[in-house]
Amino acid sequence: MKTVSSLLDQDWQARYKRIANLNIRSSIYDVTNRCNLRCKGCFFFSSGEHEVTEEMDIRKWENFIDKEKERGVNLAILIGGEPTLCMDRIEAFYKRLPAYCATNGLIKISRDKFPDMMVGISLWGGSADEKVLRGRDTFAISSKNYAGDPYTYYLYTITPKQLGKVEPVIKRIADVGLKVHLQLLSNDEGVDGFSWREGELKDLRREMDEMLDKYPQTVISSKYYHEVITSGKMMGRRFGWKECPSVTESLDNRKPQTRRLIHFFRWASDLQTVHRCCTSATRDCSTCKDGAAHMSWIMVNKRDHMSSTKDLQNWIEVYEMFAKLYRFIPW
Ligand code: SF4
Ligand code: SF4
Repeated sequence: MKTVSSLLDQDWQARYKRIANLNIRSSIYDVTNRCNLRCKGCFFFSSGEHEVTEEMDIRKWENFIDKEKERGVNLAILIGGEPTLCMDRIEAFYKRLPAYCATNGLIKISRDKFPDMMVGISLWGGSADEKVLRGRDTFAISSKNYAGDPYTYYLYTITPKQLGKVEPVIKRIADVGLKVHLQLLSNDEGVDGFSWREGELKDLRREMDEMLDKYPQTVISSKYYHEVITSGKMMGRRFGWKECPSVTESLDNRKPQTRRLIHFFRWASDLQTVHRCCTSATRDCSTCKDGAAHMSWIMVNKRDHMSSTKDLQNWIEVYEMFAKLYRFIPW
């Protein structure tokens, strides 16, 4: 293995130093079992992860979060259901820990109360796709709620129907002064026409690269991330259960132990149940396209990216992307 200083020039070494000591320890929390939408293909409902008794006592949430902080968590990723249905719980996290809130954007998070909390708005394509999969054009509402907000980005889940049509979506986002991060649909409910077919992912990789080149101020991404998520491969290894870094620590009985997120848990809203991983508990791992899991897969495997300058630069770009998306470094 080579050393960082032998592989990188001074500019890249400075970029490396900016992220090398971040020591991110994330966990994921289902803030509620409820949602104001019911999207076809939602991993949360399709896997039955909402079937726990939601804790309603805010003091129990506060005590739980205090314990999570003691456990070393320094990034609370709030998902659901729809977290904005429970603003008091979001506030309990925000007051105690760096927090990120994933939302469908229909309910506005008050910037008076949460001035710098990072918000990621889910988006499943253009208005036609959104109407088919989510029952409404959420962008029309979320873009009004968050236009120009410096701590908000769209988490755009690209579906096979979006091939060749990604640019108008990116342009709409750029036009309202927001950023976007790209990920891929896993089609957990087998919606007809929304599963990836042979060859489509190669075309999509090219399209994602083009968007990054054309809209560098809007798209928060990296070409190496595009390569890994569309191919499901990294350094000749295939993504899946054996390699996944985003498995809840107490449920991780894999042998030999793979490189993984340290002390990562995904907690249900009863504050007792844990789910298998950062996404659907019932998904076939060999078909998983989860963006955060692929990003983390790259990040926990730094050593494997130490054999050439290009590999290490790729690793740094993915780490920077993650750090930007969760507000550890500026855009
Ligand atoms: S908005 Fe999110 S949590 Fe709600 S149904 Fe859609 S994907 Fe699921
Ligand atoms: S479904 Fe995806 S994120 Fe979950 S354990 Fe499998 S590979 Fe990992």
